[in-house]
Amino acid sequence: MKRLDKKVACVTGGAAGLGKAIAQRLKSEGAIVVITDVQRELGQATAAEGGFHFLEHDVCDEARWREVIQEIEARFSRLDILVNNAGISLSTGSDPETTQVDEWRKIFAVNVEGVVLGCREAIAAMKRSGGGSIVNISSIAALVATPTAMAYGASKAAVRQLTKSVARHCAEAKLNIRCNSVHPGIVQTPIYEEVAKKRGVSLEQLFAELQTKVSIPLGDFSRPEDIAAAVAFLASEDARHMTGAKLIVDGGLVDCPAIFKS
Ligand code: NAD
Repeated sequence: MKRLDKKVACVTGGAAGLGKAIAQRLKSEGAIVVITDVQRELGQATAAEGGFHFLEHDVCDEARWREVIQEIEARFSRLDILVNNAGISLSTGSDPETTQVDEWRKIFAVNVEGVVLGCREAIAAMKRSGGGSIVNISSIAALVATPTAMAYGASKAAVRQLTKSVARHCAEAKLNIRCNSVHPGIVQTPIYEEVAKKRGVSLEQLFAELQTKVSIPLGDFSRPEDIAAAVAFLASEDARHMTGAKLIVDGGLVDCPAIFKS
């Protein structure tokens, strides 16, 4: 018996990057996995390759959220796990003096409103299933200063905050629904492609450059599989007594910085 046998999971933004790795891990632990994404062709290809189901979905689209949940329930009878993973990071490079309202609106629409809608619709579905686990993908950007990505950092801090409210609400209402946030460090995924393009370098070159600038206590950058393992844990009964928690997966970057490098 695998840890997530018979569980039905939905991973938003599952076509690429961390979402894809999370979907793979949940599937390997026995779950039926539905990935959703704005990228239709890539989503279909990822689903075919990984043995997932795909639904086209923009997490900002409130009406489509209802349809997605309905389609999952119609096909698999229930929803046990929602991973609110879809997120964007516009690489405008703006700082507090140059930041633009447009940038905030775009980022908050996906990173915050998308998660709020996901939590709301998942709670309704999980009540019908008798309980469940919601995992919200925040970031270490929620926990440290991000002067050149202020809107992104603030959006991820909002995800952290709303996770606690969802967790508390579900606990008080005895819904048997847990809600936790995962805070990845720096992971090489397509999210950095825009930054690399702007700098005129490849993703690999960008990461080689970052390696010289960031000192990670455990040495290397986190891998998508590291984040996926944390998500699978929170999704499972092994985390039965955890709600409102934050799991930081960053090689020690945030929680064990040192004044001097040894
Ligand atoms: P990515 O860009 O590689 O993948 C994100 C996926 O989400 C893509 O497939 C994209 O098409 C999809 N997506 C984007 N907007 C969407 C929308 N409106 N509706 C549905 N799908 C949408 O990014 P990633 O690095 O895999 O990031 C996944 C999550 O992890 C994001 O929330 C991101 O903020 C967070 N995160 C990433 C890192 C990192 O270093 N990669 C670090 C901390 C947090």
